[in-house]
Amino acid sequence: MKEGWEAVIGLEVHAQLKTDSKIFCGCSTEFGKEPNDNTCPVCLGLPGALPVMNREVVKNAGKAALALNLKINNESIFARKNYFYPDLPKGYQISQYDSPFSEHGAVEILTSERDEGGRATEWRLRRFGITRAHIEEDAGKSVHDIGDPSKSYVNLNRAGTPLLEIVSEPDFRSSWEAYDYVNFLRRTLQYIGVCDGNMEEGNLRCDANVSVRRAGDTKLGVRAEIKNVNSLRFLQKAIDYEIDRQITVLETGGKITQETRLWNEKDGKTHTMRSKEDAHDYRYFPEPDLPPLEVSKEWVERLRDDQPELPEARRQRFMRDYDLNPDESFTLTGDRKLADYFETVAKAANNSRAAANWILSELLRELKNADVDISACKIKAEDLGAMIRLIDDKTISGKIAKEVFVEMFETGNSPAKIINEKGLAQITDTSAIEKIVDEVIAANPKQVENYRGGKTQLMGFFVGQVLKASGGKANPQAVNEILKKKLDA
Ligand SMILES: [Zn+2]
Repeated sequence: MKEGWEAVIGLEVHAQLKTDSKIFCGCSTEFGKEPNDNTCPVCLGLPGALPVMNREVVKNAGKAALALNLKINNESIFARKNYFYPDLPKGYQISQYDSPFSEHGAVEILTSERDEGGRATEWRLRRFGITRAHIEEDAGKSVHDIGDPSKSYVNLNRAGTPLLEIVSEPDFRSSWEAYDYVNFLRRTLQYIGVCDGNMEEGNLRCDANVSVRRAGDTKLGVRAEIKNVNSLRFLQKAIDYEIDRQITVLETGGKITQETRLWNEKDGKTHTMRSKEDAHDYRYFPEPDLPPLEVSKEWVERLRDDQPELPEARRQRFMRDYDLNPDESFTLTGDRKLADYFETVAKAANNSRAAANWILSELLRELKNADVDISACKIKAEDLGAMIRLIDDKTISGKIAKEVFVEMFETGNSPAKIINEKGLAQITDTSAIEKIVDEVIAANPKQVENYRGGKTQLMGFFVGQVLKASGGKANPQAVNEILKKKLDA
């Protein structure tokens, strides 16, 4: 960011809550059906149809709220947010306004700026406030005919799918902080199973409110809202672009207008979409067709008791307990099953460093190549741990281990079975190694003469020959010692 300026960013994230049916009717939420297949009088907004709250939505919202350290209100009120849009048949959206489901949360996450190559420069722990998270319904979708601009269609399959709108405090000071926070939300909601977290498919959407001010100012500048960015990277780029744009406008004597802007990935710029509405434009009033949403303290406590260790907390614990760096720990905790797998391997191996290395390099690569998920991995975590122990106690070399690993990945057999069947155990028996060393010395008289004449760097050549003759199984340390003894004799 330009010297002398500060950016202030607030984020509104819409997370589609994963449920089988919609929020106020029994229609399916299944994606990819024919347009308007998943509709009924309630979500079509037909006169006289009445909404009924879906219990599963409340449960998912509760899990999400607790994961974000929000306080769940024992009573919250649904409100009508009035606006006209073709994809909103009722003419209003059922949302929550001054009595939200949950509020007053905060999260502590690791965040870092990135260099040009996208690498983190310095991780630090930052706290971001979350104002509220409320429950609402989604609107449908307008589909515009590209071939014939006079035609537009409306698909209401999405109308009435449940959303949780998570509103942050304006606590972010850079685009990378915003990136790390939304990534954190995505991972957390996926982890607890309440949202698929796929920005490309639109089940996690993010709007960013961006303003700038002179460093040291306490008054907020006029903000612009960037809408509908469909990937984390675009979000980061859009915010960066918007910060630069606003600084340039202000430095050249211009004024920022409060407006909604759209990110265009083709030109890498944000563009004016419409002037921004204020809350009073929506004429909010309490929804007369739904009673207040009440949840008991006991219900909240039961949800809290069932909460698993969350990915960011687990990431920070892995860094402490297993001495991993932030990136390694981030990858290993991205998926609950992968994190469990790592912990089992680390314990079985009694070597967390090696466990992390094998999983992060070999295992993830093989899984990717085979296009399988960790839950379908044939290598049992205990077996990978056992294999690492066999390296550590010198039963097999690191090189042979890679061969064993590939075999384990393909067959799911235990390392002991593979090593026995293929005769891969390392040769540590000195008499066996001595025999090979004698053969190598006898076969290479010229090199022996040169070595003894002072070309001691030939040692590497001899070690290589012996290892090769042993099929890679001779213990390299023993080979070195025996060779030295015989050549120097
Ligand atoms: Zn319906």
